[in-house]
Amino acid sequence: MRTKYNKFQPDRNRYMFKIAVQDKDYRQKLANAKLRNIDLPKKNELFSSWLARNATLNFMQTSTFVNKYFAEYRYKLLNRDTDVLVDKEILKNFSERTGVELSLLMQTSIKSYSGYLSEGIRDNTRNNLVSPIKIKGTYNNLYGLKYCPLCLQENNYFKKEWRLAFYNVCTKHKTILLDRCPNCGKQLTITKRKRDLPYFNCWNCGFVYKEAPVQKIPKGSKSCETLNEAMNILNKGYFRFDGNYHYSISYFRIVKHIAKLIFQFGYRKSNVLEKEQELFQTKLRDIECVEKKFLEEIITLKESLVLFTAVFHVLSSRENLERFIKENEIPYHHLIRDLKENDYIPFFYENLVWKYFNGKYSPPYNEVENAIQWMRKNGIEINWTNLRKVLGVCLEARKRPELIELIQNNL
Ligand SMILES: [Zn+2]
Ligand SMILES: [Zn+2]
Repeated sequence: MRTKYNKFQPDRNRYMFKIAVQDKDYRQKLANAKLRNIDLPKKNELFSSWLARNATLNFMQTSTFVNKYFAEYRYKLLNRDTDVLVDKEILKNFSERTGVELSLLMQTSIKSYSGYLSEGIRDNTRNNLVSPIKIKGTYNNLYGLKYCPLCLQENNYFKKEWRLAFYNVCTKHKTILLDRCPNCGKQLTITKRKRDLPYFNCWNCGFVYKEAPVQKIPKGSKSCETLNEAMNILNKGYFRFDGNYHYSISYFRIVKHIAKLIFQFGYRKSNVLEKEQELFQTKLRDIECVEKKFLEEIITLKESLVLFTAVFHVLSSRENLERFIKENEIPYHHLIRDLKENDYIPFFYENLVWKYFNGKYSPPYNEVENAIQWMRKNGIEINWTNLRKVLGVCLEARKRPELIELIQNNL
């Protein structure tokens, strides 16, 4: 059945648009006007959500709202990932013009996670653990924005944490988030709407997002409690590991790394991962499909859900992390891969994986075999010295005679 509704009237037919476009002086006046009819950002509200709500409040599409009142950002704001892009400078302008306190607006930007989630959130490049939306024109081309219909029913706004790659369930309503229009399947672009309603609706089919059916988290899943823990760490800015406190930045750096080890390197032995996959009836894709890509860009919502639940569990204690390393027989070069090259190895992690380097750890035969295969694939000459370097352990022919033949055969 087709629902009857009022189509959103493009503002171009309206009196104000005519004046604003045709009259240069008036245009100038608007660009300097202080806006009165403005609603404050809600708790943890996303910038684009706040902007879209206020455009609606002023009877405009978000693009018209920006073009008229913030002409300096015309073609500069909505055709990019606004929520990642907005910084102090832009928000200061919005603050002056809308009368909303700068500190409140600063909280709406993904940049407010700087120093908590990572050292810094970058404008145009990939950000670890932030789901990309990849704007095409002014529409989202990826499914990086998610939402909980029950949250929208309670409060008509989109939350900042819904852009985090590991945030896939609503911890309040115990539901699985949605990352697309449940009616037509299109990506969510909340700065556009089709129906002339105060509620967020799909730009393509007009479906009111909050009316979506909800999917409850199955009983027995750890997804909610592990996400709660992780959000606690993110909000506080520190975490406790093995009796000591460390900055949350180093935690999330290793969260991403463990996620890569499981998803893209294929170290998938984990009871929690298996159980969550079963509960959510989803399975991580084979590594051939996912390796060497940017994880946040290719992972699906359900893959992400089971993956990060497992990751947070692995990192919940020293014992769990050690068990994960041992059960999967992860060689040292993979344990620290990419961490060393890019930046630094967080202390809590280096402290733990170090022992796999300093010789106490003796890799089993098949691990050496795998390392040799990996070296060959990467054009590294196969000999004892290189093998030691790659595995990060002390290997001696005298102690490991069974390896002599293996290495000889691969010379
Ligand atoms: Zn919710
Ligand atoms: Zn739709």
